[in-house]
Amino acid sequence: MTNNILSEYGTTIFTTMSALAVEHQSINLGQGFPDVDGSEEVRRIAAEALMTGPNQYPPMMGVPELRQAVAEHNKRFYGLDVDWQTEVMVTSGATEALCDCFMGLLNPGDEVVLIEPLYDSYLPIIRHIGAVPKLVRVEPPHWELPRQALEEAFSDKTKLLVLNSPMNPAGKVFNEDELSFLAGLLEKYDAYAVCDEVYEHLVFDGLKHQPLMTFKGMRDRCARIGSAGKTFSLTGWKIGYITAPPAMMSAIAKAHQFVTFTTPPNLQKAVAAGLRFEDSYYQTFVNEMQAQRDVLSSGLKEVGFEVLNSQGTYFLTCDFSPLGFEGDDAAFCRHITIEAGVTAVPTGAFYQQGGPRNFVRFCFCKQETLLQEAVSRLKRFFG
Ligand code: PMP
Ligand code: GLN
Repeated sequence: MTNNILSEYGTTIFTTMSALAVEHQSINLGQGFPDVDGSEEVRRIAAEALMTGPNQYPPMMGVPELRQAVAEHNKRFYGLDVDWQTEVMVTSGATEALCDCFMGLLNPGDEVVLIEPLYDSYLPIIRHIGAVPKLVRVEPPHWELPRQALEEAFSDKTKLLVLNSPMNPAGKVFNEDELSFLAGLLEKYDAYAVCDEVYEHLVFDGLKHQPLMTFKGMRDRCARIGSAGKTFSLTGWKIGYITAPPAMMSAIAKAHQFVTFTTPPNLQKAVAAGLRFEDSYYQTFVNEMQAQRDVLSSGLKEVGFEVLNSQGTYFLTCDFSPLGFEGDDAAFCRHITIEAGVTAVPTGAFYQQGGPRNFVRFCFCKQETLLQEAVSRLKRFFG
């Protein structure tokens, strides 16, 4: 009675590790979510709009206020001129946005190039549609783009590239040269891109996030996805937004109208206000997150981990081999959850077939005191 593709998949690693963290009362630096709710102003607008209404079905594409705010945001941060009526759609989280893009754009047999490590929702949906994933991998510690493998993965059957930058869990932010290379492949093979840019405002050390959509020839080939969950530290709200050229958008909207059709109107109204916050909001947000990254990074180095550089996202990747643990990444994460009271997720879980086995991902979007407590527990445990 089950679907053959989905039945291959177990419970997600995020849910599994969060449940283990609860069971052992450990500090959960596994699943990526902040431990403090975001902007009080945004929450207040949502609460008021809930009481004053309307609370009936909003327009299928999203409330105009939010679609206009998404278009303005594209202009303000990336210089993109976007028509809010034909090129913006609101979804119930980036997860729905991704599903809509795959359902709306792919046919059985179409090939999709993806770069591992990858977020867990991509492949089950792509495979469910009957499209064919072509996986290329970047690996720690340098996460270098394998240009030849990428070139080989493209063919005249390639319909889509899925690009996640800033990249979960690698913390890699694709640079200008890498993005130009990918743009060249899309043009050469007449393919499109679904750009998962949920961490667009979490880019550190003065680096800049550049949407692939801003590159030459890419304006009409890219659907780019944002998430209010990440940008306003409200992951439970599940408000996502897609920006795409009209031809792509009308295909994607066909999926959205049958998947969820609409998204809660009060949350949309509140997110519209958030997207219009002054630059100081975005600056403070990234500065605070960078400071938290640095606290966790230096603490984990003191514990003895080899900590990789994180250019963006919520995440740090660490090599635990200097700690002398006998076992793989999944075993290590269970071990530190149960024995040290700190939870991480195994990096190998983001690869389909046999990823690296000595790396784990820690999440740093937590209060400094909690990060310090996690580090103390690990120090105590590893002596
Ligand atoms: N893509 C990536 C790379 C993510 O890390 C996440 C966060 N879980 C999502 C998509 C989904 O975002 P949302 O919570 O808005 O559905
Ligand atoms: N994106 C979050 C992470 O990578 C988790 C989202 C989820 O639990 N599905 O940790």
